[in-house]
Amino acid sequence: MKAITFHGISDVRAETVADPNVVDATDVVVRVTTSAVCGSDLHQYHGRGGPGLVQPGAIMGHEFMGVIEEVGAGVRTLRTGDRVVLPFNVSCGTCEWCRRKFPSQCATTGRAVFGGRFGHVWGGGQAERVRVPFADHLCEKVDPALSDDDALFLGDILSTGYCCAENGGIRPGDTVAVFGAGPVGLLAMQSAQLFGPARVFAVDRVDYRLALAAEFGCEPVNLDAGDPAEQLRTLTGHGPDVVLECVGHETPFTQAIQAVRPGGTVSSVGVYVEPSMGFPAREAFFKDLTLKMGICNARNYMTTLQGLVKRGKLKPARIVTHTMALSEAPRGYAIFDKKEDRAVKVMLKP
Ligand code: NAD
Ligand code: ZN
Ligand code: ZN
Repeated sequence: MKAITFHGISDVRAETVADPNVVDATDVVVRVTTSAVCGSDLHQYHGRGGPGLVQPGAIMGHEFMGVIEEVGAGVRTLRTGDRVVLPFNVSCGTCEWCRRKFPSQCATTGRAVFGGRFGHVWGGGQAERVRVPFADHLCEKVDPALSDDDALFLGDILSTGYCCAENGGIRPGDTVAVFGAGPVGLLAMQSAQLFGPARVFAVDRVDYRLALAAEFGCEPVNLDAGDPAEQLRTLTGHGPDVVLECVGHETPFTQAIQAVRPGGTVSSVGVYVEPSMGFPAREAFFKDLTLKMGICNARNYMTTLQGLVKRGKLKPARIVTHTMALSEAPRGYAIFDKKEDRAVKVMLKP
């Protein structure tokens, strides 16, 4: 089959690799109908985190959906032909952490994600086919009324954006600032609106992304117009009640802490691959802030969010800007990385 493989910094390739098969009785094989390039793929693409976190030759991608083509003998709830979307984290559903509803901490898979990096290395979704373990637990059946563009993000960036907003504890009337108007930030903005804030500010420097944020009811704050914490203080008085950090670098993390009002909450879902980074500890301490950060337990959110997408309360498909053949993924990575051609979300079709 064709798949996108990782070969080094800024080097992903469309290659022919071995077809996946059912190995364990609880596996299925999914024929992929749509996958996508995620901001987290870019950390790998940039070589962030060092060679230990990137395996040359690994099949990339953890956002994918498709149709079940092969079913293991032990699978109970799924059949060939079922249309499903998968969470990005690979979890067993039965270990202590899965039972406590922390599938991202799964002890059986070693906190694995599709497409490698941590724990056991599972082949990724930027491929024609994917082996999906623990299929009864992982597969979320997709309503036939939803397009792939509506459904795909349930497995990663919509769940992540939503959990970022939920972790922020937004209350009706609050002011909220979202750092990052990439795919995750934009879906965090859509999700934040569900909690009834008075104002939502979108912080970024990319004009066309800020314009999309404005379409989602947010007020743009351009990083290049001056220190974002100061701009947000001018706009709100004391700083936003809640700041959602959806970038994943030291600078926006610091700016989020500087921006939030005393006693406010910073909720961060940006991925930090470095073992440690700078942190304005004194400011955080004297502000009495609440900080919540972490990887998203996407499996916990998919069913609920599918209902909200079906009823039009969330419109994730709006962020799709490019749909290209799987073999064109190297170009998809490049434009998404460099923010060329007004790229927000790049979808790949095998
Ligand atoms: P992206 O790279 O397209 O978006 C990041 C955006 O942040 C860009 O538009 C960029 O211009 C903007 N930005 C850069 N510096 C900024 C600053 N100082 N202030 C405000 N904005 C700034 O990526 P994405 O797909 O939206 O992903 C965003 C982050 O979310 C990544 O770190 C990704 O790894 C992470 N992520 C986390 C999870 C999770 O489970 N926690 C899941 C998916 C993605
Ligand atoms: Zn992702
Ligand atoms: Zn588990």
